[in-house]
Amino acid sequence: IGLGTWKSDPGKVGEAVTYALGEAGYKHVDCAWIYGNEKEIGQAFKDVFSNGSLKRDDVFVTSKLWNSFHAKHSVAKACKDTLADLKLDYLDLYLIHWGIATPFGEKEPMGDDGVLITDAVPIRETWEAMQELVKAGLVKAIGVSNFTTPMILDLLTYAAIPPAVNQIEVHPYLQQAGLIEFCRRKNIAVTAYSPLGRPGAEPARPFLRNRGGERLINDAVIVEIAGRHKKTSAQVLLKWGVQRGTIVIPKSVTPSRIKENIDIFEFELSKDEMQNIAGLEIPERLVNPIEWWGIPYFD
Ligand code: NAP
Repeated sequence: IGLGTWKSDPGKVGEAVTYALGEAGYKHVDCAWIYGNEKEIGQAFKDVFSNGSLKRDDVFVTSKLWNSFHAKHSVAKACKDTLADLKLDYLDLYLIHWGIATPFGEKEPMGDDGVLITDAVPIRETWEAMQELVKAGLVKAIGVSNFTTPMILDLLTYAAIPPAVNQIEVHPYLQQAGLIEFCRRKNIAVTAYSPLGRPGAEPARPFLRNRGGERLINDAVIVEIAGRHKKTSAQVLLKWGVQRGTIVIPKSVTPSRIKENIDIFEFELSKDEMQNIAGLEIPERLVNPIEWWGIPYFD
């Protein structure tokens, strides 16, 4: 279980990381340059590693290469900037955040046509530069995020180092069974992001209207199972992810929730319960870039 840090606000994220690695017992933190909070997380790492409670090697740190740094001359610089911000001399895992390149400069440049401006950098160029980071000792492992099966199949045709991980959105409303099985066969670990269904992060999404506008965390099936085990809905959702063999990275800046989210190892979901949860699939994304990169879609 890793601590997610997207939208963990500056002023809160440092304390959240310190609490997670200290009192709550986390050993894995999921970061990204685009989250804009790596400097504060770095200060927390420095404090935790210098007070003697944990060594650097005890913790698994992931970060992600943003779209505007895909060109081969940008990859090492982007990685080194992240390392400097995180106050680390290596990452355990560095991911291509999205399989799409944008020109160096703005984070999400939009064209006059209202569509994201992309750059002619093939994934192969980026991946070859990622492999150099491993050789240089800047990162222990490399992987991808938001990659589909065809994208990974293509990558595997030339990768000298295959991706260790694919980090994708996974929760009971979007289960990704085919992609997870494909990754398993290719020995690629799957990290499930938004494992709680992003409760409270934004207004309930239109496609949840047919669920009464409810959030995943309030879904009657999840609430019922949680009650049976005397656990919370969040704990059931995370246990479901772990029992399916995925790595889960719930985000929280709330100490009681950070603790709650890792306290899932003394109960098991039965086969029936796993099947009932499998029946909840919509399937629909909560994190869908077509909504903010100007690609028309129909609800
Ligand atoms: P999430 O973890 O499903 O949900 C986070 C929300 O749940 C926050 O509003 C948090 O509130 C709340 N929460 C946490 N624990 C709770 C609990 N026990 N009970 C009730 N509410 C709880 O969503 P996410 O942040 O989208 O995904 C997790 C992580 O995955 C991210 O932070 C990021 O590290 C990663 N991610 C990666 C990508 C990618 O493209 N690779 C995309 C999305 C996410 P508080 O913080 O206020 O407690």
